[in-house]
Amino acid sequence: MKTPVYLDYAATTPVDPRVVEAMLPWLGGRFGNPASSHAFGRDAELAVVAAARQVAGLIGATPDEIVWTSGATEANNLAIFGAARAARDGRKHLVTLVTEHRAVLDPIAQLVREGFGATVLDVKADGLVDPAVFRAALRPDTLLASVMLVNNEIGVIQPISELAAIARERGVLFHCDAAQAPGKLPIDVRALGIDLMTLTAHKTYGPKGIGVLYVRSKPRVPIAAQIVGGGQQHGRRSGTLPVHQIVGIGEAFRIAGEEGAAEAARVRALRDTLRDRLCGIPGVHANGSFEHRIAHNLNISVERAGGEALIAALSDLAISTGSACSAAHAEPSHVIRALGRSVELADASLRITLGRWTTREDVEFASGRIAEAIARRRQDLYQ
Ligand SMILES: *Cc1c(COP(=O)(O)O)cnc(C)c1O
Repeated sequence: MKTPVYLDYAATTPVDPRVVEAMLPWLGGRFGNPASSHAFGRDAELAVVAAARQVAGLIGATPDEIVWTSGATEANNLAIFGAARAARDGRKHLVTLVTEHRAVLDPIAQLVREGFGATVLDVKADGLVDPAVFRAALRPDTLLASVMLVNNEIGVIQPISELAAIARERGVLFHCDAAQAPGKLPIDVRALGIDLMTLTAHKTYGPKGIGVLYVRSKPRVPIAAQIVGGGQQHGRRSGTLPVHQIVGIGEAFRIAGEEGAAEAARVRALRDTLRDRLCGIPGVHANGSFEHRIAHNLNISVERAGGEALIAALSDLAISTGSACSAAHAEPSHVIRALGRSVELADASLRITLGRWTTREDVEFASGRIAEAIARRRQDLYQ
């Protein structure tokens, strides 16, 4: 077993070797610009269309509803700014959750500085939003609601189809950041009843730097382009298409569709072992619902062990406190705080995320190391 053991699949994943294999020709001999009308261009265009089918196939969409972006951050920006700037009927209010990713919260905060209004909803102690609270937040001038499918820190699954139905009733557009979802649970944009959905490759064994915004075509969702130039993608997002990246996300999502369910079942058994071992230690609290949660995530807060110092003592495990992004801010996780945990417990939270190459040996090792580190920290602090 190689250390550090990688248990941070929610931050990013290794690229699957099959994805690398699919991408390689497009970094070598096949180089055409898919916008060109000659044979080189057509070769590239066919590869892009095939990848759009693979992505659309995973989420129950059609290929024309797939807009390529540089990742989930750009897709969220395109959904939120794009919907706000295309609004024609004077609607100027947005609704989201306090536990959303920064790539949703920050564009909304930017719109608020520009004169829009926003309601940022609290979640219950289990991390889920109450649909009645969501319903009550919608106003006659609400333009867009944005709620993630799977939370990146605690792995909980929001009741999207229920929320989207409420939004639909009120004529409110519904955007869903599903960056953490492909291969973790079945996704069907029609069954969910949503208008816009964000995806990214690098959380699902694809390359970094490529993502997707699903934009419903029937009825068409009005979205103002945020990157303008050559008019590619029917003007929805300009820029020469990165064919190697697009082929990569296509293959990654094909594999997710074919192997996701079996993978989740295998990973669930490992996660549950880890949970049972760690949550059996006094003063260790699991964060977020287990009933509505992906199999790949465990998030715990540890009492009386010191946050930073505990992580420092776990240098042979690649795990994170809160999210990788909030780690850059060096503030207690806004997600764990939203569950009603104290600053101390939010500071002492560990996110452990499992994936395609996590083994039982990894999990045994990790649970042993974490238990040991907690015991040692408590001895140092309290003896
Ligand atoms: C990782 C992540 C993002 C950002 O994705 P990038 O592709 O890295 O820009 C956005 N939202 C969620 C929920 C994520 O987990």
